[in-house]
Amino acid sequence: MVETTSVEMSAAFGATLTIDLPALQRNYRSLQARLVGGAQCGAVVKADAYGLGALKTAPALYAAGCRDFFVATLNEALALRRCLPAETRIYILNGLLKGAESECAGHDLLPVLNTAGQIERWAAEARRRQRVLPAVVQFDTGMSRFGLSESEVIRLADEHATVRQTIDIRFVMSHLACADEASHKANLYQLARFRTLTSRFPGTRCSLPNSSGIFLGPDFHSDLARPGAALYGLNPIPGKPNPMSRVVTLTARVVQLREVNPGDHVGYGCTYTTRVQARLATVAIGYADGLLRSLGNQGAVYVDGQRLPIVGRISMDGMSVDFGPLCDRAPDDIECVEVIGPHQSVDDLAADAGTIGYEILTALGSRFQRTYIASDETGLRANRECRA
Ligand SMILES: *Cc1c(COP(=O)(O)O)cnc(C)c1O
Repeated sequence: MVETTSVEMSAAFGATLTIDLPALQRNYRSLQARLVGGAQCGAVVKADAYGLGALKTAPALYAAGCRDFFVATLNEALALRRCLPAETRIYILNGLLKGAESECAGHDLLPVLNTAGQIERWAAEARRRQRVLPAVVQFDTGMSRFGLSESEVIRLADEHATVRQTIDIRFVMSHLACADEASHKANLYQLARFRTLTSRFPGTRCSLPNSSGIFLGPDFHSDLARPGAALYGLNPIPGKPNPMSRVVTLTARVVQLREVNPGDHVGYGCTYTTRVQARLATVAIGYADGLLRSLGNQGAVYVDGQRLPIVGRISMDGMSVDFGPLCDRAPDDIECVEVIGPHQSVDDLAADAGTIGYEILTALGSRFQRTYIASDETGLRANRECRA
C-alpha cells in the first residue's frame, strides 16, 4: 500500500480524493499573516471551491477567521449562504445578471458590479426596497474582461454623491492578469492604473490581489485579498519552492495486473507499443474522473516513491501504468497508486498534462470517494448540520 493512503479505501470506489481541511486552514492563516497594513484575507470558493467542495471548505475557512467569500454565480452564492453564518460577506464575481437583483438583495449577497447597467439595476432594486444596498464595483485595469472602463469609472466618480444614496460601495476592485509572473510589466502597469482610478474614490476600500498577487509585495495588498489557488495548495510563485501546504491527495486502485510481451499494444488507438516484456497495471481512474486525456503517454503515477509512466491513452474509467521498475514487488501487494500526493503535486500533474493546476482541480470529478480530513476546528460538524 502507498504510504499516503492513511484513509481507508472503500471497495465501492475506484479512486479516493482526500481533502485536508487543517492544511487548508494553515494556508489561509499563512496568507493572512503575509498581508500588511491591516489588509484582510478573503477566500475565493467559486467553482465549488476549485472542485474541492465549497460546502466543506468554506466553513473550515470561516473557522480559520475568513469572513469574505467570493463565488462566480448567484447559484453558488445561494448554496454558500445556507452554510455560513449571517455575518459572512458573500460576493458574486460574475456580476449582477438581469433578473438576479431580487434574490441577491433578499439573501444579503454582494454583487460585483461590472457594468454601468448593473450599477443602474442595483440602484433600482435599492429604490424598490427603500434601502441602501451593498456592492463591490470592479474596474478594468488591463484584462479587458470584467469591470468598468476608465471613462465609466470617471463617470461613476462624478456621480458618486448620487449613487451613494442607493449603493454602498464596500470595495472597488480589480484583477491582475499576470500576477504569477512577478517580473511581468503588466503588474506595475495595472497597479498604477488601479491607484489612479481608486484615487477618485477617497475613503473607499480597495481589493486587488489574487493568490500570486499577494506575493508581489505589500504594494499589491490593498485592503482585501482574494486568494483561491494558494488556499488549495497550488504554488502561487511558479518556479520557486511552493510555500503552501498540500491540501489534495488522490489515489487510484489497481484493478488488474498483466504481463505483456514486446510488440503488444496498449489502450484505445494502440498508441503505445511495448518494447520489452513488462508488467502493466490497469488503474481505476479515467477521464470521467477528471484525469485529462492529455496525460496519456505523458503523465505518471507514483508507487513507493517511484515514478511509473502512464502508457497508452486514458480511457473513460481506467488507464494503464507501466509497473516495470516494480518487478520485485509481489503484485497483489500494490493496491493503489498515488496520482496526487507527496511525490506529485497538482502543479506537477498539470505540467505533464500541458495545463495549469487550476484546470486539474476544477476538473476533479464527482465519482471519487471523497474524504475530508477534519479536526475540532474545521467547522465540518456545523456544515453537516447545515446540509441535513
Ligand atoms: C478566481 C479569481 C480570484 C482567485 O484567483 P487565484 O489565482 O485562484 O488566487 C481572485 N479574483 C478574481 C476576480 C477571480 O476571478
